[in-house]
Amino acid sequence: DSEANVKVAVRVRPMNRREKDLKTKCVVQMEGNQTILRPVFAFDHCFWSMDESQKDKFAGQDVVFQCLGESLLDNAFMGYNACIFAYGQTGSGKSYTMMGSSEQPGLIPRLCSSLFSRTVKEAREGETFTVEVSYMEIYNEKVRDLLDPKGSRQTLRVREHNVLGPYVDGLSRLAVTSYKDIESLMSEGNKSRTVAATNMNEESSRSHAVFIIVLTHTLMDLQSGTSGEKVSKLSLVDLAGSERAAKTGAAGERLKEGSNINKSLSTLGLVISALADQGAGKNKSKFVPYRDSVLTWLLKDSLGGNSRTAMVATISPAADNYDETLSTLRYADRAKSIVNHAVVNEDPNA
Ligand code: ADP
Ligand code: MG
Repeated sequence: DSEANVKVAVRVRPMNRREKDLKTKCVVQMEGNQTILRPVFAFDHCFWSMDESQKDKFAGQDVVFQCLGESLLDNAFMGYNACIFAYGQTGSGKSYTMMGSSEQPGLIPRLCSSLFSRTVKEAREGETFTVEVSYMEIYNEKVRDLLDPKGSRQTLRVREHNVLGPYVDGLSRLAVTSYKDIESLMSEGNKSRTVAATNMNEESSRSHAVFIIVLTHTLMDLQSGTSGEKVSKLSLVDLAGSERAAKTGAAGERLKEGSNINKSLSTLGLVISALADQGAGKNKSKFVPYRDSVLTWLLKDSLGGNSRTAMVATISPAADNYDETLSTLRYADRAKSIVNHAVVNEDPNA
């Protein structure tokens, strides 16, 4: 058992067209591991992506991967579960950070590609690695499989296995043997996400995208013929726009009746608060309402449980987003107190 706090990073995106046209002032500064918005916040990492001309300071996709992705992979190869989630208002850079573009790939494609190079490099005689991926979207408390072209209209249910924990019943889990495989699945999934959003007049800003990689490491003892395995699950989460959370649960207000749209995000706020209180030693036995939403139920292990977890809070540099930026930094500041208890998922007699 090894205890570790949730790692929290903050990333500022560049000014967008609208903000440039309005000649909006930049209100965010970063110095080392401090994000300065007044009050000043300190985090594990502060990624200045605002201005590429500041060579010594600028953090591109490669830097974000080195700081957050590499250690996640180290953990996965040791048999730990790991999770990264991106939190921030719509347009602040969550999808850019998690998925990126083909010219500027983000954390998920970089993790996948590096994962395969490592399975090749680390494989020895009698050892095999298998990689399986799932990709889903949570919208209005319903789960949709993004890797099942036929099932794109169907909604799936979350169930809980008494040993393996919460899982999505019927979600595809596809075995992949190369980065190319994953790449084509990702682009299918991303397409399916966008198509559904336009067809049903839903905004993708209201849905959570969850990409899961399961790495299984099997060791064969050639002499005795026995084998054991280590399994680790990587959950990579692009959350719905946080502007919706600020107005509901995270602020402690009750949800409007019949509206589930923000349920997962507002419950995440309550879960983080409860775990942060526990971590800060304020209230050790505080009830954590994991089962109150689909997202928190599925991420139960990753939040205060058996996982190494990092959060990336993405923010706009612009003065007219000050309120949302402050609320994002406060949220990220709370998350720093969460302590996870990661254990190696090892079954010596699998
Ligand atoms: P979100 O997913 O939070 O709604 P996006 O990731 O879609 O936001 O980002 C909004 C826009 O800003 C996109 O056009 C994206 O390419 C751009 N952007 C976001 N973060 C960065 C960054 N760090 N560097 C360059 N462009 C960025
Ligand atoms: Mg997005």
